[in-house]
Amino acid sequence: MGSTRVCGTRDRVSLTGPAARRIAAVTMGLAVVAGIMASGIRSSMSAAAAERGKVVVSDEARRIHSQTYVFDGHNDLPWTMRTEAGSSFDKADIAGPVPKFHTDLPRLRQGGVGAVYWSVYVPADTRQSLLTTIEQIELVRAMVARYPNDFALALNADDVEAARKAGKIASLIGVEGGHCIEDSLENLRRLHRLGARYMTLTHSDTLAWADAATDEAKHGGLTAFGEEVVREMNRLGMLVDLSHVSPETMRDALRVTTAPVIFSHSSARSVADHPRNVPDDILKLTAANGGVVMVNFFSGFIHPESAKRRANMFQVNRELRAKHPGEAAFKAAKLRWEAENPIQAGSVHDVVDHIEHIIRVAGIDHVGIGSDYDGIGKTPEQLEDVSTFPKITQELLNRGYNADQIHKVMSGNALRVLRKAGK
Ligand SMILES: [Zn+2]
Repeated sequence: MGSTRVCGTRDRVSLTGPAARRIAAVTMGLAVVAGIMASGIRSSMSAAAAERGKVVVSDEARRIHSQTYVFDGHNDLPWTMRTEAGSSFDKADIAGPVPKFHTDLPRLRQGGVGAVYWSVYVPADTRQSLLTTIEQIELVRAMVARYPNDFALALNADDVEAARKAGKIASLIGVEGGHCIEDSLENLRRLHRLGARYMTLTHSDTLAWADAATDEAKHGGLTAFGEEVVREMNRLGMLVDLSHVSPETMRDALRVTTAPVIFSHSSARSVADHPRNVPDDILKLTAANGGVVMVNFFSGFIHPESAKRRANMFQVNRELRAKHPGEAAFKAAKLRWEAENPIQAGSVHDVVDHIEHIIRVAGIDHVGIGSDYDGIGKTPEQLEDVSTFPKITQELLNRGYNADQIHKVMSGNALRVLRKAGK
């Protein structure tokens, strides 16, 4: 298709300097026209990801990247530490390289990561999910205490800025899945007191008070109690996270909330049709709300063809969990299923397609980064771990975005929402 060649041309070379940026902007314009002409065949763009070539990080991109920092909306290192290293930083000392993880300190530093919401995820079917979530919060606090020269606990935007001034990585706590409040507002308040600063309303499964994106819709969105949860989060200054919830739940939450919301790790549905991704009408509502959609890097969410092949993955997970009790047995069964049902990895180009789509629909003030590292099985080419974020800066530069715009995507928008919605 013609559009693939245009995209290939604009993305293959690392451009530097103002003249080159003008060329990039013009080429981007052509690509937009080609994109409109080729509407409905977006998947062909990604099918040609391999043809789009490797992104090479220039000195200019490195400079722009180092003037800001990455504020990652979602990193699952705590769950990986629990399941792969028995929650022991002796077994997996992230001060040095831990190649089997996506995340360790040398690579966080290399990637220019300055703030992270550490996810205190526990699976939706966990018995004692509140207690397990509290253990995961304790694990994040233990990590911050163990590496005090690198991490600082952050509860609000001022804390993030203070950590940055001290050269440390601001560490925030994000709860993934409202199942862990066990239908109790007091439990929600308890998690907030322990330092949690966002909560994803659901994980993969529909709750008694909210529909998930990847399960049966039982309530048409939020129930009355679900709306109460949102209002209580607003009152506490805890960010409402709409990743994983159904479009109806997104709409209900956006109607009820008085503060900007986040999608801590979600990509764009028009680019890759997966139920975990955000539809265009919700992107527009999020812009009106002042919120931010932080793009997930998982190959099965960002690559159009892979998204189709992974559309039922949460149903498969549920079946495998039921058939193979215990985390180790489930994981082995899941790896077997993934090997039998392979998907394409996609690349940094696909991830930037999602960022650019959200910019076009919602605006430059409403997009961020939500990698989902250490929570995802397959990563795009050139975005293998937390050291690779400068490639996104380079690719945004290649597509004609300037330093101010790139800084908003990397951290500015996430910090703005935390300042407005947090306390
Ligand atoms: Zn998730």
